[in-house]
Amino acid sequence: MSVREAQEVLKLYFGYDKFRPGQEEIISNVLAKKDTIVLMPTGGGKSICYQVPGLVMPGLCVVVSPLIALMKDQVEALLGNGVNAGYLNSSQSSKEQQLIEQQCFDGRLKMLYVSPEKLLSAGFFSFLKRLQVNLFAIDEAHCISAWGHDFRPEYLQLKNLKLQFPEIPVIALTATADKLTQRDIQTQLYLENPRVFSSSFDRPNIYLQVQPGQKRMEAILDFLEDRPFQPGIIYCLSRKATESLAQKLKEKGYNADYYHAGLSAKDRDKVQERFLQDNVQIMCATIAFGMGIDKSNVRWVIHYNLPKNLESYYQEIGRAGRDGAAAEALLFHSLADVMTLRDIITQGDNSKEQALSLAKLDRMQQYAESTSCRRKTLMHYFGEEFPRDCGHCDICDHPPTSFNGTELAQKILSAVARTKETIASAQVVDILRGSRNQMSLAKGYDKLKTFGVGRDLPPLEWQRYIHQLINQGLLEVAYDEHGALKLTKGSQDILFNGKKVELVKFQAVNPKEEKERAAKGKNRNPLATALFEHLRQLRKDLAQERGIAPYLVFNDNTLQEIAEERPTSKPAFLSISGVAQAKYEQYGEIFINAILTFLSQQSKAEQVKLKGATHLLTYEALKQGKSPEEISVERQLQLVTIFSHIATLFQQGYDVDLKPFLSESEYTRVHQAIVETGCTSAMKPIFEHLDCQIDYFKIRLALARFNKETATV
Ligand code: ADP
Ligand code: ZN
Repeated sequence: MSVREAQEVLKLYFGYDKFRPGQEEIISNVLAKKDTIVLMPTGGGKSICYQVPGLVMPGLCVVVSPLIALMKDQVEALLGNGVNAGYLNSSQSSKEQQLIEQQCFDGRLKMLYVSPEKLLSAGFFSFLKRLQVNLFAIDEAHCISAWGHDFRPEYLQLKNLKLQFPEIPVIALTATADKLTQRDIQTQLYLENPRVFSSSFDRPNIYLQVQPGQKRMEAILDFLEDRPFQPGIIYCLSRKATESLAQKLKEKGYNADYYHAGLSAKDRDKVQERFLQDNVQIMCATIAFGMGIDKSNVRWVIHYNLPKNLESYYQEIGRAGRDGAAAEALLFHSLADVMTLRDIITQGDNSKEQALSLAKLDRMQQYAESTSCRRKTLMHYFGEEFPRDCGHCDICDHPPTSFNGTELAQKILSAVARTKETIASAQVVDILRGSRNQMSLAKGYDKLKTFGVGRDLPPLEWQRYIHQLINQGLLEVAYDEHGALKLTKGSQDILFNGKKVELVKFQAVNPKEEKERAAKGKNRNPLATALFEHLRQLRKDLAQERGIAPYLVFNDNTLQEIAEERPTSKPAFLSISGVAQAKYEQYGEIFINAILTFLSQQSKAEQVKLKGATHLLTYEALKQGKSPEEISVERQLQLVTIFSHIATLFQQGYDVDLKPFLSESEYTRVHQAIVETGCTSAMKPIFEHLDCQIDYFKIRLALARFNKETATV
């Protein structure tokens, strides 16, 4: 058993050319029959680490997984890749279970997923002893730790695996990184000198960004406008907020829905399902949403409100980009949110817990107000070294510059002093900007010397400088006095002793730049963008027909590559990353046909750019006098694909003759059906209208002729 075999399995069953960093070493360790612990972030590619060796070694790989929904998805994905997999859990009938058990006995099954309850149920070990088990994989292994929040008592019994099957290697995998959990996994599972593989918990594909919370609704609409159809989650603090936000987005024409723990279990399932199926684009949700759901193509996560700590934040943004394709996290930050969260925390009565929660909230706030690389700040918080700046966050994109802000600081501090330290930051800004609102007039603030001294700067900019003074300890927030700002010892030095203050220059979000960034790295090419959308719809339809999640057809990365590369032959299609042999057989030609149809509908100018496209190879072959049947055999493409090339060629104005394939009387019949159904691209209605009497390929040709003739009229 070699790494080479592992590589072949990776290509054949998963369609990938290379392992990700770490995967190969892990797999070699497992193939050497050694116990292994894998700590890898969500989306890092843990499944491959046990699936590949499980497939390379003779026999059956048994996977213990606690979440029934995820188990089903994994099995579905494996089946789609041509791997014979099955699961056993309490949701099945005994008949279904028997069927799977029989497949185990026959040696047909390669990958068996079981719930811990099932594994520990009476007689199951003796069942396993009659089989050739090659590996035990324990997924979500942190569930074994009584310290963690996902503790599952059944997991403690998993130590019996090693006692009963000492010679079978065990691989334990988790996305939880802390040392305590790691130690628990090792000792509780009775693993033998396991090698621990711990990869960075960074999620490099997620772009990190923070924006001021003042005009978040407008900002969200801007954000959405640049990301049509991309599925995403907006996390809100309250249930009510999820509902009203979803409502507002719907009014703007977006396909949005909401989810919170106040909905009935049935409604929650329904909403979740619709999101999984790509039938809802935007999910406005409380943090109750996302646990135990496996939607790998969430493209962005927005935090409408500041989360209560960085642990939650990181977990929530981690739901984006699990497929490894580009994803984004946008956080809105406002002091009002900080106050609300403080109120919530201080309502508890355990003072020790409160102090800890408040300290964590402080770190969250510092992150939001950070002036250095966001990813670095995050990784340091989680105890990981991160020596360089990431180059993939808003701070790295717009490195802040500092300036002598003494005068600005003095203006702020003197406004605070002159109002006797009784007002919050928003009112300080009002005074500086000279807003004649009710409050200012009623309290006589308009008579203050500082009233209106800061008209030259926008409110947002003043807010930022106030934040910075707070962070530098030059102002304090009295949370128990509605956020009133208080002077500190340091502020006296600035006001009275002329001490200097460095501030970081405020940079407003530049909508144009933001738009460019949104477009960058994705589909720069408009043709690819349009084709991606076209294929995404096809993927959705195919998934719906088969009752599976769209990403199980092809994930976003793969679909993206298809849209860019436009493969129209079998070898070209198989060379796309993520297209396994079995996937090609199920979907390859459907997608090839869709690509060709799409391309044939493009303008002439676009078509010129497509020189060398494979329909041109068909054209050459036709010119050499080959028949469509011969070309089909030669090029390993189905006959209908060749006809679809011919249709494309005809429509693009190449001199191909349709007569040998489509008689005049056939054309007349299809022509009539086109007119009667009004369909000029979809073939199925025409096919049915003609009582399924005329072959699809003929309809395809007739449509090409029809469209060409009507276009030139
Ligand atoms: P995890 O279980 O760690 O959250 P998954 O095993 O679901 O992550 O993998 C996340 C994504 O990365 C999946 O879409 C998977 O197909 C993809 N992936 C895993 N390994 C590779 C690889 N070597 N090359 C390309 N994509 C990979
Ligand atoms: Zn950065």
